[in-house]
Amino acid sequence: MSTPARVFSRVEPERVERACAELLRVLSPGQVRRDADTLAAYARDESDSGVYPPDAVVFPESTSQVSAVFKVCAAHGVPFTPCGARSGKSGGSLPLKGGVAVSLERMNRIRSISAEDLTAVVEPGVVTGDLMKAVEAVGLFYPPDPNSWEWCTLGGNVAENAGGPRALKYGVTRDYVIGLEWVLPDGEVLRVGRRTIKGVAGYDLVGLFVGSEGTLGVATEITLQLIPLPRKVMTALVVFPSVQHAARGVSAVLAAGILPRCLELIDDVALRAVDGRGFHFPPGAGSAVIIEVDGNHEDGLLAELAQLGDICAQQGATQTLVAQDDSQREKLWAARRSISPALRAVKPHKISEDIVVPRSRIPEIIERLKAMGAELGLTVATYGHAGDGNLHANILYEGPHQRALVEEALRRMLVMTVELGGTITGEHGVGHAKREYLPLEQQPALISLQRRLKTFFDPSGLLNPEKIFPAPERS
Ligand SMILES: Cc1cc2nc3c(=O)[nH]c(=O)nc-3n(C[C@H](O)[C@H](O)[C@H](O)COP(=O)(O)OP(=O)(O)OC[C@H]3O[C@@H](n4cnc5c(N)ncnc54)[C@H](O)[C@@H]3O)c2cc1C
Repeated sequence: MSTPARVFSRVEPERVERACAELLRVLSPGQVRRDADTLAAYARDESDSGVYPPDAVVFPESTSQVSAVFKVCAAHGVPFTPCGARSGKSGGSLPLKGGVAVSLERMNRIRSISAEDLTAVVEPGVVTGDLMKAVEAVGLFYPPDPNSWEWCTLGGNVAENAGGPRALKYGVTRDYVIGLEWVLPDGEVLRVGRRTIKGVAGYDLVGLFVGSEGTLGVATEITLQLIPLPRKVMTALVVFPSVQHAARGVSAVLAAGILPRCLELIDDVALRAVDGRGFHFPPGAGSAVIIEVDGNHEDGLLAELAQLGDICAQQGATQTLVAQDDSQREKLWAARRSISPALRAVKPHKISEDIVVPRSRIPEIIERLKAMGAELGLTVATYGHAGDGNLHANILYEGPHQRALVEEALRRMLVMTVELGGTITGEHGVGHAKREYLPLEQQPALISLQRRLKTFFDPSGLLNPEKIFPAPERS
């Protein structure tokens, strides 16, 4: 279900008309779309947080065109909102006040891959999976792997500081971005960061811009550092009788002195949702954990998996099944990737959160979430990147009549997350969906400081308005 769209004041049609006439002077007609189908497609993302059509969608193909678009919008007082593949889960690309959606999809060239420098230079519209494959073909590795890698873009990853299963061992997007070409909201083009691995000159603006959720400017070129591709990867499915056993298994693995590259939890609800859809869990499985290790020596990896399997057995695991080849590995990961869509078949509606707690608190948060679901009569599914404490906690429900209950469950979930020392979003961002919950985690002075930063970079407030921060009276 889509959240009922909150109403924001839209930009006046006359301004849009004047801006569009001028956009057609800096872009070709095929780069400015205003037909109903296009506007409908750019009105939503994967967050279920409303439908907000832009007045026009533009498709710049170069940095100078992005800059020109921003200048036109600024001159006419028209809001503009960047977007990549619109796979975002926090509503970051929604043009809440209408105006111009600026799609970076056509800037999709991998400009260079250097095996000597261990870097890649890409345009923002490159699909993440395309870069992953291209660098792997020359023995290099770009580890950040959001589960949407087959279609999300690197520009969107930079904006959301995307993570993924491999973040446990290898970190998130920010750990790989070393330089950016950045277009400020007034159209000025900057180069920030560097092309070297080390470098500390000046403030770390790359660090600020990565994760700025499309509110401080737009990346038009991204320089990424790469690492050598591990030669061997081994994956196991560890089966537990219940999610509580599995959560304790995750904690025990983390304390074992071996760092897997992925440690993904599949709880009872998620397991039942995907079981039999291309992958069959063993009979009696109540929950499962995917453990993946990598390195250069198969024997060592097998020994690590065996050791981790023993540790899980001490926590009640009934089986450890090691994938025998790439096709078995891929089946396992396909099952993991299909959890989100499969949960939609369990109940017609769901709200999906990406909370993070300190890893030692995973068993406790799962316990408390399940108890909350039982108390409120709602089904709660928890799965995801448990190894780094990042759980996709989903509230499944029947329909709009349960909406108030769901809102209550959501608030309670985020409050208990913060109480346990966690954060309301580990990788999806605050965007539109969670802006009203930011004060649960951050003090007013901190929110106020960030608002001032936004105003500094975007005094007119036209770039991606109404995102991240709550309405002023609520902060
Ligand atoms: C099935 C599924 C699984 C997912 N799994 C993960 C996961 O494991 N980890 C994870 O982190 N996320 C995950 N996501 C969320 C999503 O894919 C990521 O947030 C991704 O980074 C969004 O990329 P995008 O190209 O779709 O960006 P969009 O959704 O189009 O935009 C996201 C934000 O980026 C801004 N933006 C886009 N391009 C630029 C640019 N060039 N410069 C500046 N700002 C820009 C937009 O304004 C918006 O605020 C998942 C989503 C789905 C649907």
